[in-house]
Amino acid sequence: MYTSRQLAEIFLASSSPKRSLGQNFIIDDKVINSIYELAQLEKKNNCKILEIGLGPGALTQKLLESENKVVGVEIDNLVCKHISQIFRKEIESGNLELINGDVLDLKWPNGITDIIANIPYQISSPLLEKISHIVYNDNNLKNCIFMFQEEFAQRIYVGKFISNRGPLWISVSLDWDITLGIKIPPSSFMPQPKVHSRLVHLKRRDLLNSEKVKSFLKSKNLKTPSVRLIKAISFTSFNQRRKKLRNTLRRQPTKLKIRHGFNPKDWEKIINNAFLSMREFFSDCRPEELSLMDWIEFSAQIDHFKNFYQTST
Ligand code: SAH
Repeated sequence: MYTSRQLAEIFLASSSPKRSLGQNFIIDDKVINSIYELAQLEKKNNCKILEIGLGPGALTQKLLESENKVVGVEIDNLVCKHISQIFRKEIESGNLELINGDVLDLKWPNGITDIIANIPYQISSPLLEKISHIVYNDNNLKNCIFMFQEEFAQRIYVGKFISNRGPLWISVSLDWDITLGIKIPPSSFMPQPKVHSRLVHLKRRDLLNSEKVKSFLKSKNLKTPSVRLIKAISFTSFNQRRKKLRNTLRRQPTKLKIRHGFNPKDWEKIINNAFLSMREFFSDCRPEELSLMDWIEFSAQIDHFKNFYQTST
């Protein structure tokens, strides 16, 4: 067993860190242990873990300890060479599968149950986007542990700071239960990044099909709206986050097309009726004042009146 600092020193003896690939390596074993605890791997042994961005391999070493299968995706050839040497036995035995490539471009292996990633911050958004497509086709994926830049983590989690509410919060919350892990200072990495980092645990859920949402919508005689509709309405509203909803949504969002059943000539009637069906003064709200349930209910009302006018013309 190596310490994380030892692994970083071995790697850095023959290679310099590449800033363009976000290479800030963990050198603090406490951080490795926190990730491991957050992932609750000691309780499981038939997981297929995808580790993204292996670096010197401190996290990889800990994951392999858990007797689960690890698939590692790493873009840097020199990192792959280092990993192949350090984990030669594990690769030979099939416990570690190493894939040299860009995680955003590659087709991922099927059956991944957990993702663990201390990744370069610049790929945080596109990676979440890719994962959101994968969960709709592969329901094995249950948990993700990410190391994000603190500010990005807060925009996912939001908590009581409603100014952090936005598209990122909505799209992640529809698919995942979000818990924050520890905040990590720059001194836990080599070389040190400029900002603080934060562990984030995402646990798979399907909010729209949960009992809570289903019974809530049923109590209002509404049908479940599509994810696409919720995103179109909320993202358009957040584009002008200082404006009241009734001003931003006066015109039909460009994302809603006739082929989705939205005819611009009916939009005014649809949106006005949807506003009237919500609580008093709803149309005077600014987007950050709305909860997730508000967005779901509001989208369901819009969907309801769209169908009403569609069938009546
Ligand atoms: N997980 C390690 C390394 C973190 S540094 C640790 O915590 O110490 C980020 C790692 O991601 C680097 O090894 C970098 O080469 C790799 N990486 C960067 N962009 C990537 C991409 N698009 N696909 C796969 N790996 C990438």
